[in-house]
Amino acid sequence: MRAGEFELIDKIRRRANVGPEIRLGIGDDCSSIVVPPNYELLTSTDLLLEGVHFCLDWTDLFSLGIKSVAVNISDLAAMGAKPVSLHLAVGLPANFSDEQVEQFLNGVFAGLECYEVSLVGGDTCRSEGPLVISATVQGICHKDQVITRGGAGAGDDLWVSGTLGDSGLALHFLQMNRPLSAFLAERHYRPEARVVLGQRLAIENLATAMLDLSDGLNGDLSHLLRASTVGARVELERLPLSNEFKDELRIDQSLFDLALCGGEDYELLFTAKPAMRDLLEQLSVEMNLSLSRIGEITSTPEFDLVMASGLIYQPQISAFDHFGSTKDKSRE
Ligand code: ADP
Ligand code: MG
Repeated sequence: MRAGEFELIDKIRRRANVGPEIRLGIGDDCSSIVVPPNYELLTSTDLLLEGVHFCLDWTDLFSLGIKSVAVNISDLAAMGAKPVSLHLAVGLPANFSDEQVEQFLNGVFAGLECYEVSLVGGDTCRSEGPLVISATVQGICHKDQVITRGGAGAGDDLWVSGTLGDSGLALHFLQMNRPLSAFLAERHYRPEARVVLGQRLAIENLATAMLDLSDGLNGDLSHLLRASTVGARVELERLPLSNEFKDELRIDQSLFDLALCGGEDYELLFTAKPAMRDLLEQLSVEMNLSLSRIGEITSTPEFDLVMASGLIYQPQISAFDHFGSTKDKSRE
C-alpha cells in the first residue's frame, strides 16, 4: 500500500528547492515565474510512456528519473535558454511501492540539482496501466539570443557537439542481451543536456540555427534544413565517434548507421558562419567538449551524406528496423 497522493505531493514539496526566479512553486493552483525584462520564457514538454519510450526491464527507476529531466532540459539547451523550472506529471502504476516511487523521485531530484532547476508543480495520479511521465520545462533567454531551427543560411558550417551513436549502440547491445560498458551505460542512461554549450552559443552569438539530436543526425538535420529552407552536405568521415563506437565498427561496419539514425544522442547540432571557426574551437577547448565541423549548408534543398570517396551514402535504416517497434524510445 502506497502513501496517498497528498502525502506524496507534500514529500515532493519539502524536497523541492525554489530558485530566485520562482515567485510561486508547488502548493498553489499555478506556479509563477518572474521573467527579467527583455527575456523570453521558453517552454517544452515531453511524454515518456512505459512500453513505448522506456522499458523497466532495461532501466532502473533512478536512471529513468534523471533521464526524464535531462531529455527535457536538452530542448532548452537547444535554443540557448537557461533552464529555470520543471513541472512533473506522473501516472504511477497501482502496484508501485513507496520505495519504487522514492527511487524515481531520487533520480528526478538528482537531475534537477545537476541543472539547478526548481520543481515548481505537476500532477500526480494512479495509473491502472503503465508508468506515465510527463515533464514540462521552462527556461529563460534574452529575446535577441534565442536560437531557432530556422536561421541557417547557405555557406554556414554545420557543427555537432560530443560523439554520435553511443546511445544507439547501447540500445542495440541491450536488445542483444549484451552487457554495457560503463561508458555506453552512461551515454544511454545518463545523457547530459548540453546546457552550458547552448547558452554560450546564444550569449556569444556564435550559432545561426540549432537543435538537439534526439532522433539521430539523419532525421534531426532534415528538421533544421526544412525550417531554414536550405540543404546540406555532410562529410561522413568527419562524424565524431567515440573510441568504443569505432572499436565496434571495426567488427561490424553496418553499425555505422547508428551514428546517423540511432537516436538519443542529446548532442547539439548547430550552424555557424565560417568566421566563427576559431572562436568555436577555443570554446571547445575551454569547455573540454568536442565540437566537430561535419559539413556545410547549401542553398539547394537536398541533403547529401558524402563518403571519403566522394560517393553519396544511403543509410540502411531498415537494417535497424527493430528500433522502430520494441524499445526504449525516449527520443520521441
Ligand atoms: P490541483 O487539484 O489544483 O491540480 P493538486 O492537488 O493536484 O492541485 O496539486 C497540489 C500542488 O502540488 C500543485 O501546486 C501542483 O502543481 C503540485 N503537484 C502535484 N503533483 C506534483 C508532482 N508530481 N510534482 C510536483 N508538484 C506536484
Ligand atoms: Mg492536480
